[in-house]
Amino acid sequence: MTFATLGLAPAVLKAVEEQGYESPTPIQAQAIPVVLEGKDVLGAAQTGTGKTAAFTLPILTRLAPHANTSVSPARHQLRALILTPTRELADQVAESVKTYSKHQALRSHVVYGGVDINGQIPALRGGVEILVATPGRLLDHVQQKTVNLSQVEILVLDEADRMLDMGFIPDIRRIMDLLVNRKQTLLFSATFSPEIKKLVADFLHEPVTVEV
Ligand code: AMP
Repeated sequence: MTFATLGLAPAVLKAVEEQGYESPTPIQAQAIPVVLEGKDVLGAAQTGTGKTAAFTLPILTRLAPHANTSVSPARHQLRALILTPTRELADQVAESVKTYSKHQALRSHVVYGGVDINGQIPALRGGVEILVATPGRLLDHVQQKTVNLSQVEILVLDEADRMLDMGFIPDIRRIMDLLVNRKQTLLFSATFSPEIKKLVADFLHEPVTVEV
């Protein structure tokens, strides 16, 4: 199995090659084709399995412009949202997004609580295609109108079980209500409690399960 056969955009493949990755991890081999098809994914995977690239690489491919589409979205309009439980994970995921998107004209940024919200606003002003965020701070930005979620097509809930433990489920449900243009949802969790199953039942459409 190689990355070249998975259907990733050339710019994404180039970034992966530059990272020195020789072959996809099991979660990547399973998830990448499914995400590229536009399907919802339920991922049972922990950190260290390569799950960040498993969702980021196909998302970057889906956001890459296609030569045969006449109508392209407005430049730097927010189209993919990745929610994480902690600022440490948000930073790591955002770093991966930057690395894997370095040959694309896409912009990405990260916002989380515990730091001055005003300092985060200039980077958002020109618009970003991909935003990594913790739920509470994202809602603060929505309220301040520094983030608009109406054109988000792809949502990732990373480490959903930890978001549950940290009490973020009500925030996530509020965010879901604002994602009026959501077309694809990817949920990753190491464990599946009844609350996580309820979230899956409420927000995922015929998800494909990938697990390692
Ligand atoms: P993650 O589980 O997403 O936190 O990734 C764990 C680590 O594996 C990160 O340091 C990645 O850079 C690395 N990694 C991800 N995919 C691959 C791959 N296909 N080959 C080698 N290393 C990888």
